[in-house]
Amino acid sequence: MSRTFEEWLQSRLTAHGFACGVIDGVIGPKTLLALKGFQRARGLGPTGLADEGTVEALKAPSSRVAIEETSFIPDRDQDVADDQRHGTFPRQSDAMGFYGPVGTSQTRISVPWDMRLAWDPSTTVRNITVHEKVAPSAQRVLNRVRGIYSDREIKSLGLDLFGGSLNVRRMRGGSRYSMHSWGIAIDFDPERNRLSWKRPQARLSRDDAIQFWLEWEKEGWVSLGRARNFDWMHVQAARL
Ligand SMILES: [Zn+2]
Repeated sequence: MSRTFEEWLQSRLTAHGFACGVIDGVIGPKTLLALKGFQRARGLGPTGLADEGTVEALKAPSSRVAIEETSFIPDRDQDVADDQRHGTFPRQSDAMGFYGPVGTSQTRISVPWDMRLAWDPSTTVRNITVHEKVAPSAQRVLNRVRGIYSDREIKSLGLDLFGGSLNVRRMRGGSRYSMHSWGIAIDFDPERNRLSWKRPQARLSRDDAIQFWLEWEKEGWVSLGRARNFDWMHVQAARL
């Protein structure tokens, strides 16, 4: 799949931690802000023009450190996000205290690639419902993932198959609420990442998914697969 220069630019800015929103090839105010921020962070003049020096800097591998530099972006969610980045997602046992009653304070984030319902592939998923306190972080992760993987890779990994987010329910075989009850967990491709499946059977346990998980972990999210080698479909904004 070939991309326009504008899409490449947005992908790279996003990968470097400067969110452009949905990668659509349209250079709007958000992309310009990200571009200027990137230039400033790299000691280049914040011209908002993708000149040669800027393009070279964008080609460089993105690092974790770059994520910290987004704080200049005047985004009211940024303060919350900064807290979360520094590991303040609660433990599972403190979810009620931190996130409030199950099923409340929900908002939506946009999926920056073509996604479908895993159990009904004819249904397109454009938005995912998540808790307000995790939404900015989840949105940043999805945007960065968009910048890292091609459409083909996203399909191969099964990231285009949405397995659910908000769902008020008890944990399987227990009385505690599932993390999905607060909209702080997201499932991908449940069919190829069955609950009890381990490495290497689970699709998201394979090496080409590591970058996907790292993007979540950078912001304090937890993969049950990476932590416990089960439920590889699942990522959550709560520590174990
Ligand atoms: Zn789950």
